Amino acid sequence: MPSLLIASRNAHKAAEIAAILGENFDVQSLARHAAAPEVEENGDTFTANAVKKAAETAAWLNSQAPGQALPDFVLADDSGLAVDSLDGAPGVRSARYAGGGGNSTDAANNARLLHELTDVDDRNRGAQFQCVLALATLGQAGEVRTFEGICRGRIAQAESGEGGFGYDPLFIPKGHDLSFAELGPDIKNSISHRARALAKLADHFASN
Ligand code: IMP
Repeated sequence: MPSLLIASRNAHKAAEIAAILGENFDVQSLARHAAAPEVEENGDTFTANAVKKAAETAAWLNSQAPGQALPDFVLADDSGLAVDSLDGAPGVRSARYAGGGGNSTDAANNARLLHELTDVDDRNRGAQFQCVLALATLGQAGEVRTFEGICRGRIAQAESGEGGFGYDPLFIPKGHDLSFAELGPDIKNSISHRARALAKLADHFASN
């Protein structure tokens, strides 16, 4: 069974990835490698940030003392929300949309998004979650593959639901009337941007 370290300190993301990958992988968390460096997410695209996180974490692991139990792969996730009528914002700035330097709270990000969409009617609230996963193979410096998933939907007029994280209380996926936060993990994890990217990753492992 391949072992795979999830290079994310976002516990929600890591938990979703572990739940979706199920029992086919030995999924490890950064808790096992607490000294791993924080990677600065300064790329202009989800792909650039995901590749940077996977490559830098893999390079750090490769530089550790021999004898340490290392995973076979490092998997990084860079993801966010792109709203059509806001020209794709918040995009790569999703985690820090409310401003103030560093990441903002989910509540502040959601409040800013609702504010930006004041007076925008339901027909013009289309949006998509995007996820890029980057897979680095330990011991093979520089080899990083990416897998992308998108989930279309729209932004609600107000938050609803308690589940999930981030913009989930505001995002109503296409074909549904409830937000991701109301739909719960089973439905979210079968249709989300992250689930779709992970399905491509699983196909890659199945065919290699
Ligand atoms: P990252 O850690 O830089 O990739 O930041 C991702 C940000 O995008 C998160 O902090 C959330 O605000 C948002 N985001 C990504 N995926 C999801 C999701 O599945 N649900 C809700 N918000 C998400």
